[in-house]
Amino acid sequence: MTETLDGTVALVTGASSGIGAATASALAARGATVALVARRRDRLDALAASIRERGGEALVIEADVAEQRQAVDAVERTVAELGRLDTLINNAGAMLIGPVEGAPLEEWRRMVDINLLGLLSVSHAALPHLLHAAEGGSRRVADLVNVSSTAGRFARGGTAVYNATKHAVNGFSEALRQEVTGRHVRVSLVEPGITVTELTSHNREEIQSSIQGQLASIEGLHAEDIAEAIGYIVTRPRRVAINEILVRPTEQER
Ligand code: NDP
Repeated sequence: MTETLDGTVALVTGASSGIGAATASALAARGATVALVARRRDRLDALAASIRERGGEALVIEADVAEQRQAVDAVERTVAELGRLDTLINNAGAMLIGPVEGAPLEEWRRMVDINLLGLLSVSHAALPHLLHAAEGGSRRVADLVNVSSTAGRFARGGTAVYNATKHAVNGFSEALRQEVTGRHVRVSLVEPGITVTELTSHNREEIQSSIQGQLASIEGLHAEDIAEAIGYIVTRPRRVAINEILVRPTEQER
């Protein structure tokens, strides 16, 4: 049975492109009012307009989740303006890859700041509101979904620090799940394989061309494929917690 998200509020980080944008649209289509969080305001405005055209409701919040104050403010603005928070999708992320030897330390810091510390800051600020929604809302359940990666399950040479951030997300998710599941906040982990988005475009040029070569050999997932998995997680009946979903393109071996 699929439950509606009517009357609920969802916050999606990294909603300006790729998996986050597709997920925000999918949750809005199921009835949630969505808070769209990312740095590129023009993209968020365009997404909000398209959600509204289809009869949904959206709030645009321009924020850099790597900045702790902005991450916390994004959550607080959502609750102040939309009245509650039932669903958090921690999706914002960066993948800056290449060998450890000679890697720019700045790239590592960016990944830790966004993929890990950003996710922790947003989760910390959101948790009281999710617990409150699970106690008092009509659904009596709330969801915190962390978008990790196959890289959070399996480490590979060439992606060490991205692996480190996503393994950390997996560890945090399971520990938090144990802490709050008894109070009906479901913590779920989504681990996409190769998905066609803008994610690889922020890499150094030499890295990008080698990634493009590897990606060209298989048919990657669409952002909507992952959005559908997230939509499934957050529309389960209260008694059902989908703890983890690993979704690979059929042709992806590892
Ligand atoms: P995109 O690059 O299309 O999306 C990344 C999103 O994160 C953008 O909306 C970007 O918005 C946002 N973002 C990045 N940095 C920040 C920041 N500091 N503050 C707020 N938002 C930020 O890539 P994907 O859709 O592919 O990535 C989404 C998630 O999926 C990531 O966590 C990624 O690791 C994960 N993933 C992706 C896979 C893939 O193959 N594509 C595979 C496995 C996991 P803006 O720049 O406007 O701030």
